[in-house]
Amino acid sequence: MLKESDDLSWYARKAARACGPVPGAEPEPGQVERLQALLELLRKAGVKGDAKSMTLFTRRLPPGCKPCLAGQGTNLYVTGLCTRDCFFCFNQKPRKDELVVHGIPVKDPEEAPAIVERFGLRSVGLSGGEPLMFPERVLRLIAALRAMGKPPRIDLYTNGDRADESMLRRLKDAGLDSIRFDVAARDFDLTPVALALTIFDEVAVEVPVVPEQLPQLKTMCLELDLLGVPFLNIHELFICAENEIRVAAEGGRAKAGGESKHLLWRPTAKSLESCLELLLFAQEKCRTLSVYLCSCGTQENISKRGYLRRKRAPLVVE
Ligand code: SF4
Repeated sequence: MLKESDDLSWYARKAARACGPVPGAEPEPGQVERLQALLELLRKAGVKGDAKSMTLFTRRLPPGCKPCLAGQGTNLYVTGLCTRDCFFCFNQKPRKDELVVHGIPVKDPEEAPAIVERFGLRSVGLSGGEPLMFPERVLRLIAALRAMGKPPRIDLYTNGDRADESMLRRLKDAGLDSIRFDVAARDFDLTPVALALTIFDEVAVEVPVVPEQLPQLKTMCLELDLLGVPFLNIHELFICAENEIRVAAEGGRAKAGGESKHLLWRPTAKSLESCLELLLFAQEKCRTLSVYLCSCGTQENISKRGYLRRKRAPLVVE
């Protein structure tokens, strides 16, 4: 049986305040047909993946996403504090400085490896908030994970505000595998991404697809391709208790029927169509950039796989 201190119950505790009855928007006239047409165009253009769960990609999957898709990935929440205040941010408010490993709050970075080992996790995403507000904490986490007998892959998610050259070099020297930038947090400024490319072999960008930003997102795809960035991850703009007022103020409505047993968030009604348009654009216009859609359907499957794995090997509470 799942106990108080595993990650599902942590999410569930958050869910207790997250799951309000959010009214959903039905598809607008013609949207279902447009989605079908886009999927057909994507199929003809050679997009890969699974259309049923909307797990689609143009060239190849980022290496860090493979263990995650198998339910063997986890999120290591370095802090809830951030240098930005994005309208789409789904982090808990008021923001709190807490370190949470696979849903388990801990005091010290050195407690992370035991949790990663206990759950057989093979891929760790250091995220937040903005993890680089606490660089020493991040470096201690990387050192502790790297010292494991069978270290997991480590990716860092950042908005780039604190990613100067010296910080990037320290992260690389500590053993970080890859760095992912949310450039939507910085109005699509790619300066830290270009800098990271001179230091890391693997650099990625990850952004929510806000339908009104589709022209900027297309321009960003072309710029990333020119820079030689290998991976762009996109996801639907989603809505949850923490962002619903601000997303609604920007015109976003939850998709009707988008509720999930496993996720605390729901996709907005128009974002998937924009995601498919962006995938098609990248498939046709980019030479080397791989674009991967990690949709809410994908995230639901990841969550289910993680749940089944934990059910097979329930947490033993000491
Ligand atoms: S940069 Fe990320 S964590 Fe910070 S406010 Fe924006 S979405 Fe939230």
